[in-house]
Amino acid sequence: MKIDMHAHTSRYSLCSRLSPEDLIKTTREAGLEAVVITEHDKYWPEKELARFREKFDDKVKIFTGQEVSTAAGHVLVFGCANSFKYNIKVEDLADEVRQRGGVSFLSHPYRYADISYFRENRDEAERCYKYFDGIEVLNGNQSCEQNKFALAEYRRMNITGIAGSDAHSAEMAGRFMTEFKCDIENEKELVEALKEGLCRPCENKFVKKGEN
Ligand SMILES: [Zn+2]
Ligand SMILES: [Zn+2]
Repeated sequence: MKIDMHAHTSRYSLCSRLSPEDLIKTTREAGLEAVVITEHDKYWPEKELARFREKFDDKVKIFTGQEVSTAAGHVLVFGCANSFKYNIKVEDLADEVRQRGGVSFLSHPYRYADISYFRENRDEAERCYKYFDGIEVLNGNQSCEQNKFALAEYRRMNITGIAGSDAHSAEMAGRFMTEFKCDIENEKELVEALKEGLCRPCENKFVKKGEN
């Protein structure tokens, strides 16, 4: 099952100009089967999400997670409906998420990084990862070089990796996806599959930049 694990909509992310309706439309056009809406520091309210799901047929499943702002950058959290303290310490976030039965993945780990530094200091990268259930390997806001480096690190360390478009506009939606070995019906199953590592990060070859 192909899922875009990371997308922002104008409903709850001020930086996004992508309406929730257009996100679903472009995700479907990109050939994906589901999308996880990951607003900044906000989990969609359950009732609103249910009403939104009713507007669409079941060709694209709509899940929610959130992208939490921590003192050490953004972290994708799945399976936790609560908010977290702004700029929370990353180790505290990871603990809280685990206690609540969720999972956390470091977002776009190399987006602001000097790749040459990490190439020479690989231990440091590994120290950053230890708090999380895995990392977002491929991300629509990382450069090609950053994505390639993240992919090499993911393979070298044999950790769980996901991918997401990080869409803030229709042009970005559906460009990266996470392929799961199983069908996923709800957020609980999503969390279970992530804990088991039943997934791999992929680029969606059917969507070229600026095409949809
Ligand atoms: Zn981010
Ligand atoms: Zn994001």
